[in-house]
Order: sequence, then C-alpha cells, then structure tokens
Amino acid sequence: VEGVKHIIECHCILPQYRERKDPVYHKFVAFSTIDESDTVVPFHYQCNNCATVHKIYDICKSEIVAGKDESASVERIKDISLSLSKSLVELFESYSLDLPDYMMARYIIENKKWGTTIVLSKESEDQNTSGKILRFIEADRFRVESFSRKEYLGE
Ligand SMILES: [Zn+2]
Repeated sequence: VEGVKHIIECHCILPQYRERKDPVYHKFVAFSTIDESDTVVPFHYQCNNCATVHKIYDICKSEIVAGKDESASVERIKDISLSLSKSLVELFESYSLDLPDYMMARYIIENKKWGTTIVLSKESEDQNTSGKILRFIEADRFRVESFSRKEYLGE
C-alpha cells in the first residue's frame, strides 16, 4: 500500500484570475492511497474553493460528481480526527494543516509507515526553504524536526 499527495484541477476559478483570457483553474491538494494491486482507491473529495464534489479516481485525475447528495459522503477533518490521537490533532490544529495532511497521517499510522514525515510549516527565502516537519517514529511517538535545506523545494 502506498500513499501520495497530488494535485487535482477543478472547474472553478479564483476571483483574482477571473479577468484573464486564458483561464487559470483552481487546483487543490488531495491524498490518495494505492492498494496492493496498484489501483488508486477512488474516493469523494470536495473542492476547497467551490465545494464541488470530485470523484478522485487516479493520480491528478478526477471527475465531477453531479448531484448534491454526494457531499454527505465526503470525509471531514473532524471525522478523521477521531482516529488520530488527541495530541496529534492539537498539533495539526496549531499549524492549521488541511484535510490531505489528516488523511496522510491516518494512512501513515494505519499502515505503520514509520519514519515518514509531514510538513508542518515552511518558508522560502532566496533558494532556501526552511520549516518544520513531523516525523512518525512509531505508534503514538512523534518528533517535530526543523529543516533548512534546498532539497525540500518543490515538496
Ligand atoms: Zn472548485
């Protein structure tokens, strides 16, 4: 089982891009898992700008789900928080992490992907990016680490 963060393009346009002739569609981050048979597990996810429900069926690929009822099946941060420890949820809240990070944390814990990290915060200056990451050491053991490296560019 593997997990990957990827970018999904929506059909909505952020207000600051509305005047442009070539449309710049809004993009958002999603987290998908890939099962043992190399299949991306499909799930419903709501655009963080226009709330349209997407069925994400492949890496960087989705189709828009017609009908409003599907939004009831979309997972929320509070749903996922139930399966994470309280201290982890508090940490995530303090860094204002978004839904894909919660999904990734649940995936790391459920699949015991110890050693995996999640970016908590980062800042770029010149060619250098610095910030903090959370390392999952083992069940209920985490460590916040600082980083200041060029490799993290584009992460
Ligand atoms: Zn949208």
